[in-house]
Amino acid sequence: MNKPIIGVTPLWDSEKDSVWMLPGYLQSIEAAGGIPIVLPLTVDQGNITQLLGLVDGLLFTGGQDVSPTLYGQPILQQCGELCPARDSQETILFQEGVLARHLPAFGICRGLQFFNSILGGTLYQDLPTQKISELIHEQKPPYEVPSHCVSMIPDSPLHQLLGETALMVNSCHHQAVLELADRLTAMAAAPDGLIEAAYMPEMPFVWGVQWHPEITPEHDASGKLFTAFVSACAAGKS
Ligand code: MN
Repeated sequence: MNKPIIGVTPLWDSEKDSVWMLPGYLQSIEAAGGIPIVLPLTVDQGNITQLLGLVDGLLFTGGQDVSPTLYGQPILQQCGELCPARDSQETILFQEGVLARHLPAFGICRGLQFFNSILGGTLYQDLPTQKISELIHEQKPPYEVPSHCVSMIPDSPLHQLLGETALMVNSCHHQAVLELADRLTAMAAAPDGLIEAAYMPEMPFVWGVQWHPEITPEHDASGKLFTAFVSACAAGKS
């Protein structure tokens, strides 16, 4: 049987004016039995619709902060760099690919924040000034070294998948979920209460995690997450 093809949202480097990609996202999909294709950065609705016909699932990658305009709030001075093209492209991908076609989707870091924003939740625009915490959520390199613990919500799909009640994860995020969207359910939280994983119960597979499993492919939990995602993409193939 043909392997599932996973569309990967492109990264954007504003200094180099360039689209780019981190190999860990692609290697993790391949290791889990899928074929990744990096999508072009486009906001052309027709092109995105046609591209959606080529893929069996979508990986929403990390990157710039999500614009607060997506959830109807003013942009604070402390908000980080934005990427309007990514916000626009991912909005179309999510509405047409995930909500309309029920394509499996996995969101990493910005990906989780984006899912929450597009579904009506809100974000901390700048964690260091907006949330008092003893944890550092924007760790220094090396990023493959775990920096804080997350606790699984008992009996959540993530808890069932990993078979663990706690997990050490890396943490390289400037924003995070503030109010969780009604259509999302939390699956894991940091000791300071921040939501670190959530999913959409009504969909075959729409999961987001706040940490970066693609940087730690040698961790059991990273492989299990990508395998669960790619398996859902394979199961949904027509
Ligand atoms: Mn964190």
